[in-house]
Amino acid sequence: MKLAHVLTCIAAAFAFCPPALAQTSAQTSAQTARVPVVAAENFYGDVIRQLGGDRVTVTSILNNPDEDPHLFEASPKTARALQHAALVVYNGANYDPWMDKLLGATKSDGKRTVIVAAQLTGKKPGDNPHLWYDPPTMPAVAKAVSAYLSSADPAHKSDYDARLAAFLQALKPLDARIAVMKSHYKGVPVTATEPVFGYMSDAIGFEMRNTRFQTAQMNETEPSPADIAAFEKDLRERRVHVLIYNSQATGALTRRLLDVAKDAHVPSISVTETLPAGKTYQQWMQSQLDALAGALQGWQR
Ligand SMILES: [Zn+2]
Repeated sequence: MKLAHVLTCIAAAFAFCPPALAQTSAQTSAQTARVPVVAAENFYGDVIRQLGGDRVTVTSILNNPDEDPHLFEASPKTARALQHAALVVYNGANYDPWMDKLLGATKSDGKRTVIVAAQLTGKKPGDNPHLWYDPPTMPAVAKAVSAYLSSADPAHKSDYDARLAAFLQALKPLDARIAVMKSHYKGVPVTATEPVFGYMSDAIGFEMRNTRFQTAQMNETEPSPADIAAFEKDLRERRVHVLIYNSQATGALTRRLLDVAKDAHVPSISVTETLPAGKTYQQWMQSQLDALAGALQGWQR
């Protein structure tokens, strides 16, 4: 263990020192070989953990399902985590612009690899940034992360390959579920207070209404009176069959729309931006589709 590392860790108050750095040199190389990873969002962190098992140490920055991620501001703690990271994974597409700034401003302890979900999936700033709701995103991120782990730790390549195969297999029931829902609900009009669920809605084939309202809400700007009126009309006249809302961003306007939906007997379901505690990415996605299917149970074409 190098003295410089010890001093850095003390300076960082041990908050984000990978366990390997706090171990003594007498411990085995298997323990000291843990790869320190920072994920900007905890759903990527969960997938990295599934792919790396106990060979990775994952720090997720956005991990509070009670906070609005769009309002997040990076702290010195975040910068310290990045300093030690060998692998950094973030969303991109302007969802987490603080990551670009931090990466530019933080010196790395060693060689640092950065994987950006938006780059892997061809998404740009201005596109809907909630990429983890788009079915092709996680397989692409998983393959890139697994390839990195195999190159950083080639002795355990077969282990990483097996974990990647298991993860991709674990996504299959999700794809099957989406296909079944598409066969039932293609073209069904729905609405949402924010575009968080947008890609999944597209995958199911819903007709998503009030998208301009949703973009304004996401960007913390006031939707136009006309857009608000159109949204309320959709609910009151039951032109939509479900209202999807982001439970991490429930301002006064969202609460009012939930009331209008309730009065009109339009079911509402909540989705979150951040992975809830105790769930894997795939369990989280499944549970939200369960809620959606439950809300649409009485619906008939
Ligand atoms: Zn969002």
